[in-house]
Amino acid sequence: MHELSVAESALKIALHHAGEAGGGRITDLYLVIGEMASIVDDSIQFYWDIISEGTLAEGAQLHFHRIPIEMECLECGERYQPTRDEMACPACGGMHCKVVVGEEFYLESIAIEDVHQKEDSIGGDVNDETHTGSRKNNER
Ligand SMILES: [Zn+2]
Repeated sequence: MHELSVAESALKIALHHAGEAGGGRITDLYLVIGEMASIVDDSIQFYWDIISEGTLAEGAQLHFHRIPIEMECLECGERYQPTRDEMACPACGGMHCKVVVGEEFYLESIAIEDVHQKEDSIGGDVNDETHTGSRKNNER
């Protein structure tokens, strides 16, 4: 049900921005998904159609932009895009690497009808779950 919460977050952000833009109808949403993110496009579209019904975003078209994985070698600092069967660093052959790009999922922009013809660029991060690793509780 991961995709449902993603779709709900996207809807919430989109409606918020549509409201600020004067209440125009939302026609398009542009979502960026890293190749590592375990998110299925069709599932989001499925939930989207259900939860957006009756809102300003009803019938909006979802666009998915997949961004390729990028790794960073922890031994020489080389940044590279691994292939499916070769994850090692192409510069030094090192196997110690981390994923620096590819796990993200966010709403890049939305298109709103009538009021604003231009796309509003927003940085709303709609994915909490794949970022839990970097979030810590600083309880005293
Ligand atoms: Zn290297």
